[in-house]
Amino acid sequence: MDRCIFCEIAAGRAPASIVYEDADVVAFMDIRPVNPGHLLVITREHHRNIFDCPPVLAGKLLAAAARLAGPLQRATNAAGLNLLIANERAGGQDVFHIHLHMLPRHVGDGFGFRLPPSHPERPPRAELDEMAAAIRKEITEEKSP
Ligand code: AMP
Ligand code: ZN
Repeated sequence: MDRCIFCEIAAGRAPASIVYEDADVVAFMDIRPVNPGHLLVITREHHRNIFDCPPVLAGKLLAAAARLAGPLQRATNAAGLNLLIANERAGGQDVFHIHLHMLPRHVGDGFGFRLPPSHPERPPRAELDEMAAAIRKEITEEKSP
């Protein structure tokens, strides 16, 4: 693997404006903030994204974010907050070391998710049930040896 910038930050070998760290995670300022206060929370261990990160460790990203949410909101006077993990290129991921974005939000700040034109349509319940069954099947197969 090429040098991973977030591993370098976790090891203290690359510059970062750190706001929180413990044995499992590090939180620091994004160098290109969407809004002031934009933070990234990373695992110390290198994992590419949610597909290969052990679930318990992924949970520690959210636990840290929950702990940081109030202080971040008070420091930035944000009206809202988005938490986001981008996974793979199709999911918008650019740095391939798992990270959770904490994005302070303000009314009219111009950031947001763009919904596809088909979004207002509600698919029939049968279609939702079919997809739910397909996902349940994958969960069951993952559990069995
Ligand atoms: P993503 O598109 O979810 O992979 O986001 C990667 C984020 O990492 C972007 O918001 C970048 O601005 C941020 N980023 C990249 N390099 C650094 C760095 N050295 N220090 C802090 N943030 C960084
Ligand atoms: Zn890494």
